[in-house]
Amino acid sequence: MTQVTEHGGGVWSLRVPIPDNPLGHTLVHVLDTDRGPVLVDTGWDDPASWSELNDGLGALGLGVGDVHGVVITHHHPDHHGLSGRVREESGAWIAMHAADTAVVRRTRESDPGTWLDYLARKLAAAGAPEEHLAPLRAARSGGRMRTLPGLGAALPDREIVPGELLDLAGRRLRAVWTPGHTPGHVCLHLEEQHPAGLPGHGRLFSGDHLLPGISPHIGLYEDPDDATVTDPLGDYLDSLERIGRLGVAEVLPAHQHAFPDAAGRVRELLDHHEDRLTGLLALLTTPLTPWQLAERMEWNRPWDRIPYGSRNIAVSEAEAHIRRLVKLGRAEAVTGTEPVTYVAV
Ligand SMILES: [Zn+2]
Ligand SMILES: [Zn+2]
Repeated sequence: MTQVTEHGGGVWSLRVPIPDNPLGHTLVHVLDTDRGPVLVDTGWDDPASWSELNDGLGALGLGVGDVHGVVITHHHPDHHGLSGRVREESGAWIAMHAADTAVVRRTRESDPGTWLDYLARKLAAAGAPEEHLAPLRAARSGGRMRTLPGLGAALPDREIVPGELLDLAGRRLRAVWTPGHTPGHVCLHLEEQHPAGLPGHGRLFSGDHLLPGISPHIGLYEDPDDATVTDPLGDYLDSLERIGRLGVAEVLPAHQHAFPDAAGRVRELLDHHEDRLTGLLALLTTPLTPWQLAERMEWNRPWDRIPYGSRNIAVSEAEAHIRRLVKLGRAEAVTGTEPVTYVAV
């Protein structure tokens, strides 16, 4: 039986499982509107998750066919995975920020071989050792990995425009662009009085941007065709501060559980990142490649027990931190090094 939580004022959350993932589940939110229920995120594309989503809606006296629209916080598969299936069954529209729609489009069109080349090039530039690159080259020449995750993700049909109210009958839901975790992540501010009278200005569907007990992954935005030097960690910290200033009464995140003190949680996360950046500066008293920095950073387990794919994510996170430090003028690239090393200044 799907766990359904009633949050009051025509808002519910359904726990939709994410198979084989320590996060456990996505909280899919149901928002009642005058034209029918709208979902905020949909959950992982898997038969068990699909059936839980159906059961959860059933417990509210609804069917998937009743869904009027789907609002996506960001393109990740635990949020956007079932959107296509919901649209097929209901004719609902799907809305997403343009920057994440661009990621979905690019992934759908990308050729696995080209992607493997890009990944190998990027990891080599970050200082990955030959034994880490060899499996990528072998997959490339052996023609393995014919598909990429996200290849079948649904293309949205509406754009979420930052700062604007979404077109929802009878509700005030405003899009707040919160890049960082992904380039087009949005939070959605329900600008209505809290149903239980909690002090503050409405409620916030926060996706993965603001979670009560987890700090979301911040890596580099992956775009083989874009040479812009982005600063995702800087984007994330800026968007955190903006969210803290909204003064919402309650946060409805996409994982874990709802919580009241948004500003307090924002402060904790800002402090956490400040500590982490300071810790990395201490490591960078010796010049290091991003790979070497990742090896020395603190993770949830020792580096030699981090699986292959997670190491790629960890290196991307190390690079995002280096970008921030360079941008702040607290670290710099050492000229003439290849792969490039960075040092604290
Ligand atoms: Zn995510
Ligand atoms: Zn997520």
